[in-house]
Amino acid sequence: MSNFAGKVALVTGAGSGIGRAVAERFAASGAQVVVADLDEVAATAVASGIGDAAIAVQADVSRAGDVATMVRAAVDAFGGIDCACNNAGIAPAPKPFTEHTLDEWARTIDVNLTGVFLCMQEQIRHWLGARRNGVIVNMSSGAGVVPAPGQPQYTAAKHGVLGITKQAAQEFARQGIRVNAVLPGQTDTPPMREYLEASGMGDRMVKMLPMGRMATPDEVAAAVLWLCSDEASYVNGVSLLVDGGLLAR
Ligand code: NAD
Repeated sequence: MSNFAGKVALVTGAGSGIGRAVAERFAASGAQVVVADLDEVAATAVASGIGDAAIAVQADVSRAGDVATMVRAAVDAFGGIDCACNNAGIAPAPKPFTEHTLDEWARTIDVNLTGVFLCMQEQIRHWLGARRNGVIVNMSSGAGVVPAPGQPQYTAAKHGVLGITKQAAQEFARQGIRVNAVLPGQTDTPPMREYLEASGMGDRMVKMLPMGRMATPDEVAAAVLWLCSDEASYVNGVSLLVDGGLLAR
């Protein structure tokens, strides 16, 4: 496991699932961690479990003011940020393309795409202002490269995340800032469990996956930490599928 001693990591959506695993893996690797989530109770529970090396911050990533406050909290607590994982996301209930309301469209785009954009802006401003290197990993999805059935706004947002990842990767490479994306396949988190149960597909769908199982959140977290590590010092602007081979072509 890479050594992140002396580094500070900020993780959004860190109160549950993949974000929680990323925060805990960073802490286990020696980093100080900012556990940010819309759900303050969940963020506080994860940060308490980590101990003194973590703080919890309540923030809605779709609100610019919250995002600015979140980055300021990281600077106040730990002196700055080295690694950021923009992971917070929501998934709408699947239904036919023509039946999604504008409100449903807008909320998913606000959180999953605009939220990542706002976080990137604030993190990059911090690094440029402090003349400090930084690395971002944005959480996309297999839906960043193929459609998620019944979820057009999720598909659009996750494709968009790859676009802004590449955009910033090229724009800030010379300032010592790397930006990459991780694209998980089915990962065993609370919303994925709910989705499998609601769809009635449950274990049948899981058994059809190439490895016959979902990813664990920690397997996705391991990819995030590798991209953040010095081992990946020339890896910039990539979309790293962590899907057990599902989308292999
Ligand atoms: P999760 O629901 O377990 O965790 C997401 C966290 O984000 C929650 O704690 C939630 O409170 C938080 N959150 C929601 N809206 C927020 C907002 N506006 N501001 C801040 N925090 C907010 O979900 P997960 O399955 O761990 O998913 C994490 C990320 O991984 C998401 O971006 C999701 O799209 C992506 N992803 C997940 C899977 C999967 O199979 N689980 C697959 C592909 C991509």
